[in-house]
Amino acid sequence: LQPLPDKSPVGKLSNGSFSRYAGCENFSQLPLSKKTKDGLAAAKYKNMTDIQRASLPHSLCGRDILGAAKTGSGKTLAFVMPVLEKLYRARWGPEDGVGCIIMSPTRELASQLFEVLKSVGKFHGFSAGLLIGGRKDVDSEKEHVNDLNILVCTPGRLLQHMDETPNFDCSQLQVLVLDEADRILDVGFKKALNAIISQLPKHRQTLLFSATQTKSVQDLARLSLKDPEYLSVHEES
Ligand code: ADP
Ligand code: MG
Repeated sequence: LQPLPDKSPVGKLSNGSFSRYAGCENFSQLPLSKKTKDGLAAAKYKNMTDIQRASLPHSLCGRDILGAAKTGSGKTLAFVMPVLEKLYRARWGPEDGVGCIIMSPTRELASQLFEVLKSVGKFHGFSAGLLIGGRKDVDSEKEHVNDLNILVCTPGRLLQHMDETPNFDCSQLQVLVLDEADRILDVGFKKALNAIISQLPKHRQTLLFSATQTKSVQDLARLSLKDPEYLSVHEES
């Protein structure tokens, strides 16, 4: 038996699909649906930021991500795009229910990322809802929550639906996103997050983004991350 040469196809198979897009600078170079490309163009996004360039080749291939980059570096698009593409490729439709949950620690941050999702995702047919509590009537929300494909929520409000909404169903979840993951993994959300995680299917893609790298083994075990790609992007000085 001959040892495999260095440039064997075996080596290529293991990382070929994402290394192909590793050097891309523009969104147009990525393997995206026309609907997402049109959404990006309409919002005038052209060049990727560092965290987008580093993470999208992996996240678009379905890999789990633990991404760290400072505030203002464009982390929102880094998870909104793989969410849209995953549901699009799965031909997710109105009857398929909740396919993605995006959690954010505060109502304000959840509202902001919801706007980005609506803007970049405007040519897709998915339904999305902002579940953040406050003054909004939870009872009317309960009637619609099972019809939504993408939930953008705070942990508290999501748990309230899990506890109170009849037939609340996220058994088909494809992607879980934790925005500002370090804050959601913090002690203040521990009980809520554990309760939420215990009700989510383990077979899913999980994307974690925050300003600081969270690498606590315990946290990663809690979230059942599968061979995650650790990405930490810092500006060169
Ligand atoms: P973070 O979540 O890392 O704090 P945001 O996702 O909120 O950052 O993005 C910060 C700002 O950068 C927003 O105004 C957003 O519109 C802008 N932005 C994000 N990605 C790009 C891009 N590829 N090109 C130009 N501007 C971008
Ligand atoms: Mg952000």
